[in-house]
Amino acid sequence: MPFGNRNLRMAHVVAILIVVALPLAKSHAEATDGAAMIRSDFPGGNISVVRNEGSLVHVSPDLRGDNPWFYWYFEATASKPGRVHFVFPEKVAGFKNGAIGFQGPAISIDSGATWKWMGADNVDGSSFFFVFSETNQRVRFAVTIPYVQHNLDEFLTKNVDNAHLKTSVLTKSRHGRDVKLLQIGKSSPEVKRVLVTARHHATETIASYVLEGFLQEAMSDRPAGEAFRKKYAMFAVPLVDKDGVEEGDQGKNRKPHDHNRDYGDESIYPEIQAIKELDKAQGFQFALDFHCPTLVMQDHQVMYFVGAKVHPQYNFENVTEFASWIKKGLPNNAPYGPLVWLRDEVDPSPKNSSYFGFKDGAIMAVTLEIPFAPPGKATDPASCRRYGEVILQAWVNTHFREGDAD
Ligand SMILES: [Zn+2]
Repeated sequence: MPFGNRNLRMAHVVAILIVVALPLAKSHAEATDGAAMIRSDFPGGNISVVRNEGSLVHVSPDLRGDNPWFYWYFEATASKPGRVHFVFPEKVAGFKNGAIGFQGPAISIDSGATWKWMGADNVDGSSFFFVFSETNQRVRFAVTIPYVQHNLDEFLTKNVDNAHLKTSVLTKSRHGRDVKLLQIGKSSPEVKRVLVTARHHATETIASYVLEGFLQEAMSDRPAGEAFRKKYAMFAVPLVDKDGVEEGDQGKNRKPHDHNRDYGDESIYPEIQAIKELDKAQGFQFALDFHCPTLVMQDHQVMYFVGAKVHPQYNFENVTEFASWIKKGLPNNAPYGPLVWLRDEVDPSPKNSSYFGFKDGAIMAVTLEIPFAPPGKATDPASCRRYGEVILQAWVNTHFREGDAD
């Protein structure tokens, strides 16, 4: 019965098509209204739920009495499957476009273990939506890919047997947390001492992934690592504002001033006081401070260096050569740059790069800004670690010029 068989086969095909097409249709135009419960009581968490109206949840970065900024990170648990819209304020001073970057929110479906950029397909201005497939499905969303102490611990555990790495406690934070200090290579009068820092501003998570790659390469047995440790000893404070990182603060422009404006005569944060003490013991001639710029400003979608042109004396020349090696080494999908935006600073703000740049004997003191999520560029953790390795290799290639003796 050829016809009968064929009809049967057709029926199968149609049935399969319906089965395949239904969930697709459901997840797009015809998705039903869902609902979700919101929480942020975990490391790095931050959200202010303004109104939860089921399929429409009005949210905002939780400023906690500080100045407007764009950091947020929450978990949504579906109380009803379907589409839920998360709506940020249209415009609040300090974070245009409702605090969603060019690659959409970052998303994790495994409670924050792994992350990716969601993309901008589900983003509309200051809001985005997600379609929950089942009740109790838990999904984390954040303005950036988070990086907290737990991530640093993972990195340190992975390298626990590395003979070139020493881990200690720099100081206790105001809220009683250990602030980690890493040392790579042996400190001696024969090598130059390098200070590396990140998260003076708690929000700037992407910089931490780049820093990981930088440290990994410096402690490696690859040629760049070996060459680096022959000439330098590196001290790294990966999470300077440790409390801000763990508690999910905005950090930037914190009142009365943030960690990167605390390098004046009277430092108020234990971390900055401890960094100054460490400098007294080590005499840093290099300071490299990792940051991320703002989220959506057009100018801030590239990598760039900031600092003082002639403090130290040859800062501009040194950073320019360093930047050119970095640029040569970066893969094509890396953010553009790094550009060298050093300026003539006569009366600089009391930041890390000024504190170390204006010191006698300094060779290079500079801030490196890594963009969060520039359009069409890769800033996932693996890519950022790769950029960090390239930056360490570039360091080894650079002919740093020391200041002229008086
Ligand atoms: Zn910063």
